[in-house]
Amino acid sequence: MPKLPYDYIVVGGGTAGCPLAATLSKKFRVLLLERGGSPYGNNNISRLENFSFNLADSTPTSPAQRFLSTDGVFNHRARVLGGSTCINVGFYSRAQPSFVRNAGWDEALVNESYKWVEDKICSEGWTLGVVPYNGYTYEHINGTKFGGSIFDNNGFRHTAADLLAAGNPPNLHVFIHAYVQKIVFDTKGTKPKVIGVIFIDENSNRHEAFIKADERSEVILTSSAIGTPQLLLLSGVGPEEDLRKMNIPVILNNEHVGKDMADNPSTNIPIPTPEPQKQTLAQVVGITTEGFYIETISGFGQNNDSIVTVKNGNMSELKEVFRGGSIYEKIIGPLSKGNLSLVNTNVTSNPAVTFNYFAEPEDLRRCVAAVSLVLEIAKTRPVKDLNANINLIPKSGNETKSLPEFCKRSVTTMWHYHGGCIVGKVVDRDYKVIGIGNLRVGDSSLFVESPGTNPQATVLMLGRMMGVTMIRERLRAG
Ligand SMILES: Cc1cc2nc3c(=O)[nH]c(=O)nc-3n(C[C@H](O)[C@H](O)[C@H](O)COP(=O)(O)OP(=O)(O)OC[C@H]3O[C@@H](n4cnc5c(N)ncnc54)[C@H](O)[C@@H]3O)c2cc1C
Repeated sequence: MPKLPYDYIVVGGGTAGCPLAATLSKKFRVLLLERGGSPYGNNNISRLENFSFNLADSTPTSPAQRFLSTDGVFNHRARVLGGSTCINVGFYSRAQPSFVRNAGWDEALVNESYKWVEDKICSEGWTLGVVPYNGYTYEHINGTKFGGSIFDNNGFRHTAADLLAAGNPPNLHVFIHAYVQKIVFDTKGTKPKVIGVIFIDENSNRHEAFIKADERSEVILTSSAIGTPQLLLLSGVGPEEDLRKMNIPVILNNEHVGKDMADNPSTNIPIPTPEPQKQTLAQVVGITTEGFYIETISGFGQNNDSIVTVKNGNMSELKEVFRGGSIYEKIIGPLSKGNLSLVNTNVTSNPAVTFNYFAEPEDLRRCVAAVSLVLEIAKTRPVKDLNANINLIPKSGNETKSLPEFCKRSVTTMWHYHGGCIVGKVVDRDYKVIGIGNLRVGDSSLFVESPGTNPQATVLMLGRMMGVTMIRERLRAG
């Protein structure tokens, strides 16, 4: 167990946490704490054709922890080294240039950081015989294109955990099954500062790890848009009234922690076909100028409902549940925002999360436009040739009378949830937690909108970019 203090403790070995820890370890002593286990040797993580299995596994050791938002939509959060890159669909596409500009990032460093990730874990998509008109590119450009993937051409998944190999082994300590329960503060000075964390191991033994007692050493939270605000709240940083209700000693009153939570509403239009279809995850994306994106997958029991239905059955049945594919639409942004709050003081419990899908009328308007376009696509020759039988039956109830109603009743997630620790409200522009010393955030909880068509490229990039920036700043300061 850790005895000597670290320069950096990174909490959450996920999409951002792994590249961040690997990068910082090149110059500094780093501890990475991940609540889940190893992704290696697990075929349900590594193999493309097994993608659905983790999402269907609701056991306490599943790499995918299920949660139900108060909106009534099932969702998942990663619980494994490599984070969501171990359980996701794998599609890789960079953010739109305006996202990078609005974030105030250094464009050259952004491009270098994307490339650093891509050289290590990304592959070009593979062709299916129909070439979208923008061909293959990682860039975000209007029209249809092939994106990249973290699955290689043999259907093998590469994850954020692989990026740890780019670290400096003597400087990088990685603990798995290390569940951080609380951040530890020194409250003697004018403002609270972080000195370490408390975590439990797989046998529920309690441990403490500390950072060095100087201005520069830090704890960095990379526990995702769900885990990071949850950990701040559990540690006493958040809305005072809510913390008191839970008997959590207040370290800093900040009403914005856990606010501005968002999940891009998505609609899945199933394309059932008489014949089974080749298994593919998202490879082609349609980037429209009307506020939505179109993606497809095929050959899977990909609908969450069908997965839930067979969860107690033989996993191999999953592949047989649904013949055909799905066209998904996803709303950009979104504009509708929700919140996250604790239900108890146990870090292993999911917090209550509300996304308020379609609270903003513009999100609903975009959904209607997107579904209308999907229905047009369904009339085209390639789809007709599949003899598909498409109908708009929502998750509950009978056929809908209108597209707005269909959007609301069929809303699902693409798992691109974000927010909870927004810049200017919870963290400053360097992602340091406002009002607290030696504490930063570095994951999807920072985003006010989801980057690009799919966020993982930018979250991976963020981890690398933050690491490089922090090293440069520290070396410059001498
Ligand atoms: C099923 C699914 C499919 C998706 N498909 C795609 C896709 O095809 N393309 C795409 O671009 N994006 C996709 N996404 C979204 C994308 O993967 C995520 O937005 C992104 O990876 C989130 O990164 P993160 O670093 O914020 O969190 P994560 O990668 O989830 O990392 C957080 C890590 O912190 C750990 N953690 C949490 N709390 C604690 C604690 N208290 N102590 C210790 N460790 C803790 C977790 O176990 C986890 O490993 C998908 C997501 C899911 C879930």
